[in-house]
Amino acid sequence: MRKKTRQIKVGDVLIGGDAPVSIQSMCNTFTHDVEATVAQIKELEAAGCEIIRVTVPDVRAAEALPEIRKQIKIPLVADIHFDHKLAIMSAPHVDKLRINPGNIGSKEKVQEVVDACKKYGIPIRIGVNAGSLEKDLVEKYGRSSEAMIESGMRHIKILEELDFYDIAISLKASTVNETLDVYEKISEKIDYPLHVGVTEAGTAFAGTIKSSIGIGALLAKGIGDTIRVSLTDNPVEEIKVGIEILKALNLREGRTMISCPTCGRTEIDLIGLAKEVEIKTAHIKKPITIAVMGCVVNGPGEASHADYGVAGGKGCGLLFKNGETVKKVDEKEIVPELLKMLEEDGI
Ligand code: SF4
Repeated sequence: MRKKTRQIKVGDVLIGGDAPVSIQSMCNTFTHDVEATVAQIKELEAAGCEIIRVTVPDVRAAEALPEIRKQIKIPLVADIHFDHKLAIMSAPHVDKLRINPGNIGSKEKVQEVVDACKKYGIPIRIGVNAGSLEKDLVEKYGRSSEAMIESGMRHIKILEELDFYDIAISLKASTVNETLDVYEKISEKIDYPLHVGVTEAGTAFAGTIKSSIGIGALLAKGIGDTIRVSLTDNPVEEIKVGIEILKALNLREGRTMISCPTCGRTEIDLIGLAKEVEIKTAHIKKPITIAVMGCVVNGPGEASHADYGVAGGKGCGLLFKNGETVKKVDEKEIVPELLKMLEEDGI
């Protein structure tokens, strides 16, 4: 059961409440390089990214935002560290700010940022990171969940005192256990929508595993309204992983694949076949399951719940649909025939 949170609006994407869990990422281009940034965002859009964040470290980055926003379809978020002038410059040209009000400085400066967000109707995401906590909190609690939660609550209080409630929050740690602990605890305390992720998760392989466990475990408990998988890789990989996490938890429709681990009964190149089917059916948005199984003895039975599938034989494959055998084809014809079958069914 999903934990009920308030709903905020980021461009045309709803976060929280009963909105579907959205997937976001962050560009790793120089934001002032409009051409490169737009090209990367378009690639991310095509992969399924729903909200994109760009860093705004200086004036030339802030000046690039109107042109970037004009050329993209998904909501744009400006990531500001503490410079309230950059936040105010960015506000008219983005759909959300990521800024920690406690880092801005005087109350007047925070008020100016809040006024700009109210004027343009954009929310603020508070982003607490275990690696950059306030000194007094680290002294009091160490780098713990308690320190992160108190930091988050401080930032929230600053905004609430200015009558601003259009808030999302993230509390990111680089380990799975800390991530689970801190999000479970904060979700008991507040009802603002939660942006969930494991930060500095690592390279594609290790980071995918850490993110899948961390984000997946939270989502399975109903915690989390929008996710960002954080990988040291092309951000397109983050989107692919995010989509698979949501699909694995039935939070997103689309093509699901099952494939067997292979064993001594396998007599075809099943690993190559599964990879090819995965790539060539990645675009399918309909909620179908495709099975790629290594043998005709157990394959069709074990994959009887799949909508479509293939079971490998010796140099051949048995195509099946809804548990019924359709036809036997040569190994090299398996993928084209499977794709033909999907196409004939309008998938
Ligand atoms: Fe082995 Fe067949 Fe099971 Fe695949 S489906 S693991 S090949 S028995």
